[in-house]
Amino acid sequence: MNETQSKSAMMDLEERIRYATELIENSDNVVIMAGIGVMMECGALNYDRDTEAYRIEEMYHQCPEEIMSASFYNVRMERFYEFYKKEILSTKLTPTATFPALEKLQKSGKLKAVLTYNIYGVNQEYAIENVYELDGNIHDNHCSKCQKKFSMEYLRDSKGMPVCDVCGAPIRPGIRLHGERMRNDILTDAVNAVSKADVLLVLGTNLFDNMVKFAVNHYQNNKLILVTKHEHFTDKAADLVIHEHVCDVMPRLVANLKEAEPPKRGGRDA
Ligand SMILES: [Zn+2]
Repeated sequence: MNETQSKSAMMDLEERIRYATELIENSDNVVIMAGIGVMMECGALNYDRDTEAYRIEEMYHQCPEEIMSASFYNVRMERFYEFYKKEILSTKLTPTATFPALEKLQKSGKLKAVLTYNIYGVNQEYAIENVYELDGNIHDNHCSKCQKKFSMEYLRDSKGMPVCDVCGAPIRPGIRLHGERMRNDILTDAVNAVSKADVLLVLGTNLFDNMVKFAVNHYQNNKLILVTKHEHFTDKAADLVIHEHVCDVMPRLVANLKEAEPPKRGGRDA
């Protein structure tokens, strides 16, 4: 057990939240790994949940992971888009209190990077910088032939399969499909940020997730704070665990933070 683990071992939920707040307040390099749970709290489709997976199998005769795979997309594009438009692009999301909290953390100057599975681009609506979208996002679509860019609305509102209005080729969605590799440049930057992090805040996922495992392998400190509602057998590998909804905890963790001073003008070099 390291220092953080032994300190937090005997704490109740309230004490853990206070301790996490203290670790963040005393840090100047916080990196966040935001899992799928953050988006589910906003109302995103959770196809890990049995009822949803069952409904989708009934409706599309395929499991969601299969439909969202590169091999399915390549062979059955029309079917893919039927699912993608209805189940992903038509979902109405309500951003939770997590996002203004991230913005506040950003303004304090402490937040150095956010690694996220969020494909909905909700981050873009807030002043959050250095966001690494590991699974891409629904807004960056392009023609598979002439590379023309298309909005999410163009895909969502097209009749049947969306095709390019210039050359007629199918449009490639901006998300990473199952079985596709992550973009190397994004991965390199993300890993760099994690390796320099003082506090690593893992939200709405567990340490069993492949990407989280990969990131944690590059983390070199002992202040890994995990916030998740759902307990998992790997939770004990974190230094401090808070079993609560992310949107209930995040605002509390940043409540006392002040906006960073803007850089002084007219310094030595002026
Ligand atoms: Zn085109």
